[in-house]
Amino acid sequence: MDGRLAMHPHGIMFHHFHGGAHAPSQGSIDAQAMRDLIQHVGVERIISADEWLCRAESDSLEPQDVCLTFDDALRCQLDIAKPVLDELGLTGFWFVHTSMLEGEYSRLEVYRQFRETCFDSLIQFYSAFEEQARNAVGCQTVSNALDRLDIGTYLAEYPFYTPADRRFRFIRNQILGEERYTRIMDDMIGMFGQSIEALARDLWINAEDIRNLSDAGHVIGLHSHTHPVAIGELPPDRQKWEYKTNAQKLENIIGSAPRVMAHPCNSYTHATLDVLRELGIAFGFRANMVEGNWSPLECPREDHSNIIREMQACESPSSPATSLATSR
Ligand SMILES: [Zn+2]
Repeated sequence: MDGRLAMHPHGIMFHHFHGGAHAPSQGSIDAQAMRDLIQHVGVERIISADEWLCRAESDSLEPQDVCLTFDDALRCQLDIAKPVLDELGLTGFWFVHTSMLEGEYSRLEVYRQFRETCFDSLIQFYSAFEEQARNAVGCQTVSNALDRLDIGTYLAEYPFYTPADRRFRFIRNQILGEERYTRIMDDMIGMFGQSIEALARDLWINAEDIRNLSDAGHVIGLHSHTHPVAIGELPPDRQKWEYKTNAQKLENIIGSAPRVMAHPCNSYTHATLDVLRELGIAFGFRANMVEGNWSPLECPREDHSNIIREMQACESPSSPATSLATSR
């Protein structure tokens, strides 16, 4: 186990699962891989979510304590991961954005579904996307900007990204920005004869599922209302609206005010943490293990793909690293 992991209590962050009606997608794992991961980490180290909150409140988390966390309220988590938790008698944290409950869909997840279902490979999608980006902002502009991309250092805190993953994110984040990116992706979806509504079908759990999870002892936490990709860059009053709306909607469903949250796409600033404190949120989770002065609102989390890479390296030290990048 990585030295950092042994030294600080942390969460393990899960996103996508496959099995049954859920097709494999980039970074997804099946139920057996989840069992293997939990065994590798050590089931005895894993603390149920409600117990974790108790220990966090009494400042008695031990360095080896680990909890399991599920972001984005995905239906594949409920269908594939929840039964594994039931088998092991564990509960987890579920960080739930709420706009999809009102038919307003997080583009992040819809776009992922588009890439996974309309292209033979991720590389094919990246290539089609770059062509559209070049059409939209000019070939030379994209080429000039890409000259500044240092593949070795860009997003280095996410070691599981491949060079192609980094190039795509650089074009999306540094060249296009959210508005142009959204327009290009929506146009591409139309070009493929698809729609946001069709791609969004069955991606997320509903209010009843959220209530059932809470009733079964799982802990439901905030993840913003609309899941912006860079919430930390929004004005503080907009950030407050995101978290307050999210908190009110979740409270209406589970009957009590959430006390914990996870930062969507790991995006936050000091202003975000102030907003969360104002809303009475005492505990939060980051989306990586980058060293820092972790406050109670910044508990580190290890992406499940890093642990699986570590397990694969133990099994066959000479095999090439597989791309296990998540969708972020
Ligand atoms: Zn998220």
